[in-house]
Amino acid sequence: MKIERYNQYSVHLLKKYGKKVYKLPVNIPGTCPNRDGQVGEGGCIFCDELGSGFDCLPASQTIQSQIAENKAFFRRRFKAEKFIVYFQAFTNTYLPFAQFRENIRAAVAKEAAAENDLVGLAISTRPDCVNDRYLDFLLEIKEACALDICVELGLQTVNYHTLARINRGHGLAEFIDAVYRIRSRGMATCAHLILNLPWDSGADTVESARVLSALGVDYVKLHSLYVVRGTVLGEMYERGKFEIISLEAYVEQVVSFLEHLDPAIVIQRLVGKGPREELLFGNWGASWWLIKKQIEERLAEKDTYQGRKFDYLNGKALRRFT
Ligand code: SF4
Repeated sequence: MKIERYNQYSVHLLKKYGKKVYKLPVNIPGTCPNRDGQVGEGGCIFCDELGSGFDCLPASQTIQSQIAENKAFFRRRFKAEKFIVYFQAFTNTYLPFAQFRENIRAAVAKEAAAENDLVGLAISTRPDCVNDRYLDFLLEIKEACALDICVELGLQTVNYHTLARINRGHGLAEFIDAVYRIRSRGMATCAHLILNLPWDSGADTVESARVLSALGVDYVKLHSLYVVRGTVLGEMYERGKFEIISLEAYVEQVVSFLEHLDPAIVIQRLVGKGPREELLFGNWGASWWLIKKQIEERLAEKDTYQGRKFDYLNGKALRRFT
């Protein structure tokens, strides 16, 4: 029997819904407070103009037609049966409240849900772009439509010095605050991390796993760093201002991250796909599935698994007295 060495998203979805579930990406016109001057300018140093939302239909298409088109594609190609509408690119809650409400309502509108195949909504945003009003509205939708709601938060690293270097425009505190507010409403959180930021060490990777576990996030998406021409990071890369760790080292970092992570946390992705155009560096020139396979093989080789070193919460030092 195959040993499950980490908590895989596809397995989790099948267990939870009993059907093949796919995410339908939705692209809305938008920006980000870290690009328009609200909290910063120029954006994160790795961000391209697409707001890190490649593989989406054009934002000029209505939300409902994007959902219909993507649904037909996933049904045809992957025999998908149930769907999660996924607001992916840019910062999907960085909108006037009325516009945000309209977008969410469009995603769950009767026409979109007529086939009774929506099981959830996933909304990607920044930790500094959720507040009680927006979350209360999501809670209303969750209850009215009986949908699971997950707010995906870009964090990238728990090292707040690195967050400043990559010009995130927020620190760790905003992430902690957002997770508490989302969780207190019974909604799920997913944290996005880049495990090989050049200014982070292996200790930062481990601490990221420890902090996410302590906060009780539900899902994690891991990415490797990709470098796109025309970004600040791209310029630094071309001038040789930083080095990217080897693929072997990345594989070790992911293994170490998984070992320290609460085994209850579901891994949505071990490695990102990255954009295809204007790419200066991405996934060491290897395909994402090959890297995934290498990580899985390394877990097996070391005979290790997610949560093997998850022993540090709930007063570890007191265990000697029990
Ligand atoms: S928060 Fe996201 S959209 Fe905004 S600048 Fe950073 S990567 Fe780009």
